[in-house]
Amino acid sequence: MTGIPKTQYAQIFEKTGGPIQYREIPVQAPGPDEILVNVKYSGVCHTDLHAWKGDWPLDTKLPLVGGHEGAGVVVAKGDQVTNFEIGDYAGVKWLNGSCLSCEFCINGYEPNCPHALLSGYTVDGSFQQYAIAKAIHAAPIPKGTDLAKIAPILCAGITVYKALKESDAKPGQWVAITGAGGGLGTLAIQYAKAMGLRVLGIDTGDVKSKMTQSLGAEVFIDFATTPDIVAEVIKVTNGGPHAVINVAVAEKPFEMSCKYVRPRGTVVVVGLPAHAYVKSEVFSTVVKSITIKGSYVGNRADTDEAIDFFSRGLVESPIRIVGLSELPKVFELMEKGEIAGRYVLDTSK
Ligand code: NAD
Ligand code: ZN
Repeated sequence: MTGIPKTQYAQIFEKTGGPIQYREIPVQAPGPDEILVNVKYSGVCHTDLHAWKGDWPLDTKLPLVGGHEGAGVVVAKGDQVTNFEIGDYAGVKWLNGSCLSCEFCINGYEPNCPHALLSGYTVDGSFQQYAIAKAIHAAPIPKGTDLAKIAPILCAGITVYKALKESDAKPGQWVAITGAGGGLGTLAIQYAKAMGLRVLGIDTGDVKSKMTQSLGAEVFIDFATTPDIVAEVIKVTNGGPHAVINVAVAEKPFEMSCKYVRPRGTVVVVGLPAHAYVKSEVFSTVVKSITIKGSYVGNRADTDEAIDFFSRGLVESPIRIVGLSELPKVFELMEKGEIAGRYVLDTSK
């Protein structure tokens, strides 16, 4: 571990919902199957806010270093690591590790592994300058990639790309995206377009309206000012979208999407508002024969594919860069729904 400092700056959640401390902590050494990544940039996902607030029915480790969109450079590795060399670019993702031998891992459903390790939740994540990742699950990032721009792809990009695949929507069909102006939504629009879909974005405000349309949404519906969202969505899509990707952090849009989705269409549940339910009336669920399914990040293949779309320039990251020290301000804006696109933290500041 030559040239690696003994201490580093990190953002630490000592207590759920408590003060967030920006201070120096020791740099850890990687275990035999791990890499140590010098994180250059980390995206801030709404999941990080859920982790800090502790509003999900799954406890975090404490104290916790949050973050799971970390892009950086491999600076140390364990003896068993064969898929990374020192100096390679690597991404620290939500799925930090999994057992690789259970029924779910074997079938490519690694996120559903009962022994999954979650970055910035059950293990320390990327809101620090040096983060540890299991080498087998760390994302390989091509040399020369803009590390700030790829950071959001490591969770938001993979997640929405996978959700779109799960939706089974075909080129030329309509997909509605709720929460279209946020971190996941702004990437979902672009992956959907790249996959040949027609996009309708739902969110609120002028900034998000302009941003979603400049990224490729054909239609924008403002959920705060549209009197009958269900009727409007059905009208503009001539019968309802074939698929809905729900990434809004609110319960209501999930229920609405079950109402406006086209017969035989698919409602994909991705956003994770606390204490929420997806409600769909039984009669129309049957008669319209709709599918409601959950989608949870992606596996290693989805990761490589999502990164490939980005590397080929099909998807761009609508990011704003601030220092790692500014995380609490980013959380404040996120809580108020005032972030269009994604904030990315520069760990050197
Ligand atoms: P974000 O805060 O960047 O975006 C959320 C957006 O939802 C905002 O633009 C907000 O204006 C919009 N919104 C709020 N109420 C709405 C409504 N009624 N109708 C339409 N839009 C509405 O959040 P994000 O980082 O994009 O994350 C979104 C959610 O996805 C979070 O709950 C996060 O935890 C979850 N998530 C899930 C997965 C997964 O694997 N399933 C992965 C990553 C994130
Ligand atoms: Zn995330």
